[in-house]
Amino acid sequence: MRLKAGREKKIQHGYPWVQKGEILAVEGAPEVGTLVAVYDAQNRWLGIGSYNPLSRFPVRILTTIEEPIDTAFFVRRLEQALRLRQTVVNETNAYRLLFSEADGVPGLIVDRFADYLVVQVRTAGMERLKPIWLEALQAVCAPRGILERSEMESRREEGLTPFIAVLAGEVPEQILIHESGLEFLVPTRTGLKTGFYLDQRENRRQLARQIQPGMRVLDLFCYTGAFALYASRAGARVKGVDILPEAIELARHHAERNELPAEWEVANAFEWLAHAAAHEAPYDWIILDPPAIAKKRGQKDSLRWAIWKLVYHALPLLAENGCLLVCSCAYQLDLSDMIEVVRLAATDRGCPLFLEDVSFQAPDHPFLLQFPESLYLKCLWLRKGRN
Ligand code: SAH
Repeated sequence: MRLKAGREKKIQHGYPWVQKGEILAVEGAPEVGTLVAVYDAQNRWLGIGSYNPLSRFPVRILTTIEEPIDTAFFVRRLEQALRLRQTVVNETNAYRLLFSEADGVPGLIVDRFADYLVVQVRTAGMERLKPIWLEALQAVCAPRGILERSEMESRREEGLTPFIAVLAGEVPEQILIHESGLEFLVPTRTGLKTGFYLDQRENRRQLARQIQPGMRVLDLFCYTGAFALYASRAGARVKGVDILPEAIELARHHAERNELPAEWEVANAFEWLAHAAAHEAPYDWIILDPPAIAKKRGQKDSLRWAIWKLVYHALPLLAENGCLLVCSCAYQLDLSDMIEVVRLAATDRGCPLFLEDVSFQAPDHPFLLQFPESLYLKCLWLRKGRN
C-alpha cells in the first residue's frame, strides 16, 4: 500500500492511523483484517499495518520497523507494557495492561484483574491476529483465564459483531480485586466496560487525599461505588447514585465487605439532581462521572448539554467552598470545551467557580502525545465560591 505524498510524516512521527483519502494505491487486493506493508509515495518503507477497507481508518500501523508480526512481536509489546505498569501502577492487582494504539497494539485492549485477563478487540486486524496475541498473553502472563468482552459499538464500523467468550482457562462471574487496600468485585460478564473503571484509580486517590472526616460527599453515576468508598474510608458521609440496580447492589456489597458506611440510591442522576435541591443538605463534594454519552462527533452537543445540566443542578447542592469533580470520558469533548461548558453553567447560576486542578486517565491508560485520540478522560477539580 502506498500513501499520497506528504502523508508519510505523521506515520513517521508515531501517529498510527491512515485515513481513506490518504491512500494512493493498494496492491494485491488484501482481505479484510490482513497485514499490509505501507510505503510512501516514493515507495520508501513506512511500516506494517492491519488493513480494513470498511473502516474510516483502513490502515492501523503496528510497527514502523521491518519485523515479523508473530507471537514474539506481541511478547515484546507485552513486556514493554508490563515494564511501564510496574513503574506507574501501585497498590493494586488490577490495571490496564495493553491500551491499544498507546501500547503499540492498535485495536487490542487487555485489562488484568488479579489472575485473570479481560480483553477487548476493536479492529478486524486484531481479530485476525487473535491466535498470535493469545499465545503471547499466555506466555507472558500465565493467567488462570482470559475472557473476551468485545461489545463496543465501534466494532460495527469494522464489520465485526458483538462477541463474548472465554478464550482460555476459566473466568469466574466475579473477580475479587484490591485497590489502595479496598476490595472490589469485578462483574466479568455483566459489568460495564471490562467490569471496573481502572482509569479513575488516581482520581479516586486524589479525592481521598482531600477528604476530611465528617464531610458530606455525593457520588453521582457511582457505578459499583468506588469513588464513594474511597471517600467513606477517609471519614466522609457518602451517598452514591446510579441508574443501574445491579451496580448499586454491588456498591452495597462493597460497602459491607470493606466495613464502610454509605448510602445508596438507584435513580436517574439527571432527575435526582433536578429535584434534590429542595430536600438535600449541602454537600462538601459532588462527583459527576457520567458515561461517554457522545460516541460520535455529531453527538457533541448533547454531551455539552448533559454536562451543563449536571453542573447547573449540582451547584445549588454544594456548600460554600464545596468542591465539584466533573469528569468526561468522551474523546470528542476536549478540555477547553469542558471548561467552557462548566463556565456557562456556573455563570447561568451566578456562581463563582474556581478551577483548582485538571487530571486525566490513570497512567496505565497511557496518553501518547503523538496520538491525540488516546486522551479521553478529563476531570475538572472545581471549588464553589460565595454566591
Ligand atoms: N465513577 C464510576 C464509573 C462511572 S461510569 C467508578 O469510578 O467506578 C458511568 C455510570 O453512570 C455507570 O455506572 C452507569 O450505570 C451510570 N449511568 C448512566 N446513565 C445514568 C443516569 N442517567 N443516571 C444515573 N446513572 C447513570
